[in-house]
Amino acid sequence: MITYVLPIDNVSLEMAKSEIMRSGVVAFPTETVYGLAANAFDTAAVEKVFAVKGRPNDNPLIVHVHKDYDLSELVTEIPYYAQLLAKAFLPGPLTMVYKSKDTISKAVSCGLDTVAIRIPSHEGAQRFLKYVDVPIAAPSANLSKHVSPVTAKHVFDDLNGKIPLILDGGKCSGGIESTVLDCTGKIPCVLRSGLISREMIAQVAGECDEYVFKDGEKVRSPGMKYKHYSPRCETVLFGYNDREKAFELYRAKSLQGVKAFLMCDDWVAKQSGCPDILNLGKNENEIAANLYDKLREGEAVAELIIAVAPQKQDGVMVGVMNRLKKACG
Ligand code: AMP
Ligand code: MG
Repeated sequence: MITYVLPIDNVSLEMAKSEIMRSGVVAFPTETVYGLAANAFDTAAVEKVFAVKGRPNDNPLIVHVHKDYDLSELVTEIPYYAQLLAKAFLPGPLTMVYKSKDTISKAVSCGLDTVAIRIPSHEGAQRFLKYVDVPIAAPSANLSKHVSPVTAKHVFDDLNGKIPLILDGGKCSGGIESTVLDCTGKIPCVLRSGLISREMIAQVAGECDEYVFKDGEKVRSPGMKYKHYSPRCETVLFGYNDREKAFELYRAKSLQGVKAFLMCDDWVAKQSGCPDILNLGKNENEIAANLYDKLREGEAVAELIIAVAPQKQDGVMVGVMNRLKKACG
């Protein structure tokens, strides 16, 4: 199969729609990462998404809709706090889990009685979703367990020959996956942290819990139990306070002839004196936006990535640290 990478225009949108309507899958950009899209009503298409990625079949997909889509087609109830949150943060990188009306394919939610819904803000994503005008089930458009894609090239590197079309909307500005928020209880509860932080949600909703997995309990967001986001080279992660040890390891490895790269924020990069740096940037939004890009850049050139955690650990950095820990085993 030839994989076309095309800018988003009427021609590529028409191609995308015809693929989606005949149970095909295509990749599209969002403000977080690129998604692999299938018609959420179409079980054969949804199964194709799992097969193309090699995704475990108990890890449910997020359903993406355009901003004017009538959610009452998909969910039974939207609590008042969720309406406030939607007003504050949507379209944007916040996925909200509701009780499902069971109108979409059962393959999307992997047997759960809930459905996760997202309204992306990326202009190209909105155009695509409006053009196809069906709810789109989409995980990240990478091979399962590999680093999520934030450019069309990243998608091509993983899925060339496996999908017919990648809609190219440039580099994703957000860089890490959406916050997943359970909106089925009295209080919203963060299942996966992301760019909309728990603190931001609590400010609007009054309160917000954070899900912590307890041994023996049935996991509420099945995706969280899987190893994710791994680059194809060795990785090791140091805490911010252990950064001197990271610099020492870099020097020792370099002396042994191991191609090591230090991955850290701009501030630590300047202290390190190391020449081979994957610089994540100056502030939390830059760090989130660059994380996957730098992990992919790193795996292409490095035998070992030595990551140093940023000093700041709250807000968006909760999501960044969650990804960084998973990337570094
Ligand atoms: P990904 O597609 O890789 O971004 O992962 C989607 C995330 O959303 C995973 O962590 C899933 O477990 C989570 N998710 C999707 N649907 C649901 C749902 N109905 N309830 C709880 N979590 C969900
Ligand atoms: Mg993913």
